[in-house]
Amino acid sequence: MSSTWHILGAGSLGSLWACRLARAGKAVRLILRDERRLKAYQQAGGLTLLEQDLSNRYAIPAETAAAHGPIHRLLVACKAYDAAPAVAHLAPRLAEGAEIVLLQNGLGSQDEVADQVPHARCIFASSTEGAFREDDWRVRFAGHGFNWLGDPVNPSTPEWFDDLHEAGIPAEWTVDILTRLWRKLALNCAINPLTVLHDCHNGGLLGHLPEVDAVCAELGALLCHCGQPQAAENLDEEVQRVILATAANYSSMYQDVRAGRRTEVHYLLGHACRVATRHGVALPQLEQLHQRLVDNLQARGLPSA
Ligand code: NAP
Repeated sequence: MSSTWHILGAGSLGSLWACRLARAGKAVRLILRDERRLKAYQQAGGLTLLEQDLSNRYAIPAETAAAHGPIHRLLVACKAYDAAPAVAHLAPRLAEGAEIVLLQNGLGSQDEVADQVPHARCIFASSTEGAFREDDWRVRFAGHGFNWLGDPVNPSTPEWFDDLHEAGIPAEWTVDILTRLWRKLALNCAINPLTVLHDCHNGGLLGHLPEVDAVCAELGALLCHCGQPQAAENLDEEVQRVILATAANYSSMYQDVRAGRRTEVHYLLGHACRVATRHGVALPQLEQLHQRLVDNLQARGLPSA
């Protein structure tokens, strides 16, 4: 079986993974959006990874989905709302038993992808690493963190897992990937929407703690209801710790809204509300928070789903 890492989406996280894998001598191919983006990439001569004062360019080969050849291993590094449509274009190239690693934040997009490619194994990832694009094809590694990977329906570790360690990508295989994704989603729901609505950095929420606590209580109830009691443990305490530790930072949702970019709300707070409805659980605070956020995004002319 080919050991090439095909990487769908050369944005922040996709480039961070691609450069580290290429630097370690792994075979990597980028799959870009269309011919126009491919041409722009070729003109740039590769991906540049910026780490502190260091800048290195990696001339990683690239193609579009229309290229030929089977894909055995695919890292999907698009935003959650782009993941399923982007993978659908590649479905005919995915070999039987292909493995797909999904880097998307939140929940819901992983199942959308799995529906497109029932013949592939979908591996979910939860990342606390941070990267952002300084420019097209130039990505800054901004925050060291960790990656948990797991497959909710198959606990066996993929044979390529050591590639990650060899590439210096901090990662661990876990059978509890859904718990990790739910916990991260809950932290996001308790902090990010309120920073948009109150137009503040994370620390600004210290002035709105009763509201934060009310949202945490409902999130905890939801997690217990949908079989994730571990993700609910001491959620309110961790939310407050995160608010204090990141008081000067602006949340990713706040930054997206400020920059006029589409948010991933559909796969974060939107997902929590949809699951609550599916389970018949009434969560008035969460519903109201979602509605206020939707109204706020719509007023700015941004997609609310
Ligand atoms: P990003 O910088 O916006 O990159 C997304 C990339 O996907 C873009 O390069 C985009 O192409 C590409 N793309 C979209 N549709 C495509 C298609 N059909 N074919 C090929 N490429 C396509 O996003 P990101 O920040 O890396 O985030 C990716 C995911 O990781 C998100 O779910 C995010 O929440 C999660 N995450 C990110 C970070 C971080 O620090 N950045 C940390 C943890 C988790 P164009 O360049 O042509 O627009």
